Amino acid sequence: MADPKHKSEREWSEELTPQQYHVLREKGTERPFSGEYDEFFEQGEYVCAGCGQKLFASDAKYSSGCGWPAFTRPSMGDAVAEHRDTTHGMIRTEVTCAKCDGHLGHVFPDGPVDQGGLRYCINSAALEFSGDTTDNKGE
Ligand code: FE
Repeated sequence: MADPKHKSEREWSEELTPQQYHVLREKGTERPFSGEYDEFFEQGEYVCAGCGQKLFASDAKYSSGCGWPAFTRPSMGDAVAEHRDTTHGMIRTEVTCAKCDGHLGHVFPDGPVDQGGLRYCINSAALEFSGDTTDNKGE
């Protein structure tokens, strides 16, 4: 498969829904409490809506009350990339998909202390849920 990092914005806009495009390619943020995975706690994997890369597992998801899906950690250390983000008058750490560079959300240091203290605050629109509970870690 072609490297998704080389995809043109036109190709992305044809493949993604307008909401997915806005979040993944324009670094948009869905309205809080609006996303389909905010209060969603099935067992399975969350993959990138842009490229299908595994990003987060349901066992790292928790109810933060912030209005977006929250995770304590990515499914693998190299699944996501982190970048300093100084837009909107704040200093935040942006989280992107390491495979396609799509914007996912931000990571904040206010997560559950006993699970590492991080809150990966991720837009539902950047994710697709795969309900298969089979453990495919060997892939
Ligand atoms: Fe991706």
